[in-house]
Amino acid sequence: MSYKVTLIPGDGVGPEVASAARACLEATGVPFQWEIHSAGEGAIAEHGSPLPEVLLESIRHNRVAIKGPITTPIGKGIRSVNVGLRHALDLYACVRPCRLYPGVSSFHSKVDLLIVRENSEDLYAGIEYDDQTPEVRELIGWVKQHGGKTIRPDAAISLKPISAGASERIIRFAFEQAVKNGRKKVTAVHKANIMKFTDGLFLEVFRRVSSEYQGRVEAEDRLVDNLCMQLVQRPETFDVLVLPNLYGDIVSDLCAGLIGGLGMAPGANIGDGIAVFEPVHGSAPKYQGQNKVNPAATILSGVLMLRHLGEPEAADRLDRAVSEVIREGRRVTYDLKPKRDDPTSVGTREMAEAIIEKLKSGVVRANL
Ligand code: NAD
Repeated sequence: MSYKVTLIPGDGVGPEVASAARACLEATGVPFQWEIHSAGEGAIAEHGSPLPEVLLESIRHNRVAIKGPITTPIGKGIRSVNVGLRHALDLYACVRPCRLYPGVSSFHSKVDLLIVRENSEDLYAGIEYDDQTPEVRELIGWVKQHGGKTIRPDAAISLKPISAGASERIIRFAFEQAVKNGRKKVTAVHKANIMKFTDGLFLEVFRRVSSEYQGRVEAEDRLVDNLCMQLVQRPETFDVLVLPNLYGDIVSDLCAGLIGGLGMAPGANIGDGIAVFEPVHGSAPKYQGQNKVNPAATILSGVLMLRHLGEPEAADRLDRAVSEVIREGRRVTYDLKPKRDDPTSVGTREMAEAIIEKLKSGVVRANL
């Protein structure tokens, strides 16, 4: 039986890293049937939408997808297709393991974190009012009436909804991940000293849910600014982090910086019985078409997908092949070389080929 998986190559460097991941996944010997769909600005001409219904239907039917990054224009243009996809399929949990592989240069000797980011609300809800519109004027008037706070008349406004229900769902998910993966501690990240109602609610729910896991999983919380400093200095003191959407986004990139950069950070967006795997990084447009960027983040997202599909042995083999190529440090992309302009660095395709050779030679070391 082959696995039917929706494949979204994305844009920018997306098609290059997606094709590398596809080749590596196929080289594991696990049979796949790919349903390939476009999304983003490139899909508008063909489908009239950056997030075509035919793509959503394919994922709803297959229940599993893997995607390359998709560009979101900054400050104008279409809204994020990546966020739209998570909302449309209610992929409420974003899971991002953050592990330092041997051979990657870092300030630290050990990093092994699991980031669990809430994916459905917060400032990412996309509820925004542009400046100088009748709606924003009305909202500014309403705020003045209810609480007396003055917002400048030339302001634009984004809303930050945080609900008890969505907080409970993600916090419970984080604790269950900790239990399932033998992790010891969950840290809730917030700014509840300032945002007493929204982040305050997130923290209150965390305290309630964490009490159910007492004796099994340790629980603590940190202000997001303090957490960032502590992560940079002592990442080994953290284990699972659970965060509202925006902090989760920012802290994910910080943690990628601890393990060799965005080229090394995989991810998964999980809903009830449905999952979309993708790297943390974006479409890196400046490198588009150059066969330059590191495919490991997308290949490792494929490793997460194999585990999700119930193929742990293939997942372990692919993970070890990636690890071995990185440890050897020869056939790796520029970002994994000691100097970024190292002339011996290889391209996206060649690094994937090195990983496939390791897989096929069967000499991947058992315990890295
Ligand atoms: P980015 O992650 O695309 O790239 C930032 C920098 O990180 C790159 O210039 C490069 O130096 C490095 N980098 C990224 N991926 C790498 C890789 N695989 N190997 C080596 N180095 C890598 O972030 P950005 O430039 O802020 O965003 C570009 C676009 O991507 C924007 O339109 C943004 O909205 C979008 N984006 C999409 C997603 C997604 O599809 N889920 C996620 C983040 C950003």
